[in-house]
Amino acid sequence: MPRLSAITPSGPAHLGNYLGAVRRWAREGRPGDLYFVSDLHAMTTFYDPQRLRSRTRDLLALLVASGIDPDRVFVQSDLLAQLGPLTWLLECTCSFGEAARMTQFKEKSAARELAETPVRVGLFTYPVLMAADILLQGTAEVPVGDDQAQHVELARALARRFNGTFGEAFVVPVAVTPPAAARVRDLADPSRKMDKSARDAAGVLYVMDAPDLLRRKVKRAVTDSLDRLEYRPDEQPGLANLLEILAACTGKPVREAADGFSSYGELKDTVAEVVIEELRPVRERISALLADQPELDRVRRRGAELATARGAERLEVALRLAGL
Ligand code: ADP
Repeated sequence: MPRLSAITPSGPAHLGNYLGAVRRWAREGRPGDLYFVSDLHAMTTFYDPQRLRSRTRDLLALLVASGIDPDRVFVQSDLLAQLGPLTWLLECTCSFGEAARMTQFKEKSAARELAETPVRVGLFTYPVLMAADILLQGTAEVPVGDDQAQHVELARALARRFNGTFGEAFVVPVAVTPPAAARVRDLADPSRKMDKSARDAAGVLYVMDAPDLLRRKVKRAVTDSLDRLEYRPDEQPGLANLLEILAACTGKPVREAADGFSSYGELKDTVAEVVIEELRPVRERISALLADQPELDRVRRRGAELATARGAERLEVALRLAGL
């Protein structure tokens, strides 16, 4: 069953995005799987247009540089002409009550209200846009973490309702649990996941960070004073995070990752070097792609054409069934 996954240009990509998502997509993707840069989703909170554009381009380069088939990659906004009408059809299929039940909206809007920043309607309706992303491409499976499972349930409910009310237009999608992958934590605060939109970059290893900067950040990673080189995530979360990163980069089981080290310092030196080597080829290919704008534009256009072609008939059918 083909699957659909996305990465949001809410900040520069980091090691967590790479080890936890992009590298896996490149290595374990099935024929028919699709990946997109969800730039429309990055507009639901305050954003800077220039930065949105350049981050979108950077993430497209990351996906292609990581070895994902460029024909399976596209940028969400390149499908705006199809997503717009489909989102409207789905908004007119979705009840206000079911949209209002989305816990992610409740959490995000509560946080924004606390910070006295405006809550946009786009933040409220974004799960419907996400349903349009999924239904337009006709993908059957959507690998998501717990925070997004409810949104896929909504897409599922809307597809069923539309099909039942107006006639068969959509593949009814299911949320699937992605295979377990490294969950990389912030090096400066291991209680948080490494996050693109982190305010403080000190604990975030960005894919495009220079080797020296990566070394400095790893050296300053928060550990503990227990001086026990063991994998104990609850008692020693900072150290466990470093061991998980090491294991993910070397392919060793995490419980053996500490073997052979005599100090935290020595472990950190090795972690820094394996991360640098893991990211080096990706960083080089990204730089080459970004330096060749016409090639990146060509990749983007082709991805957009293929994705638009995949959705065209389904959208036609849906519009007709809906009485348009
Ligand atoms: P972010 O949370 O950094 O904004 P996205 O929401 O765009 O990232 O997610 C893109 C992909 O990266 C998702 O598959 C998500 O599970 C994965 N991902 C994000 N952060 C991490 C992390 N710290 N460790 C592992 N995987 C992560």
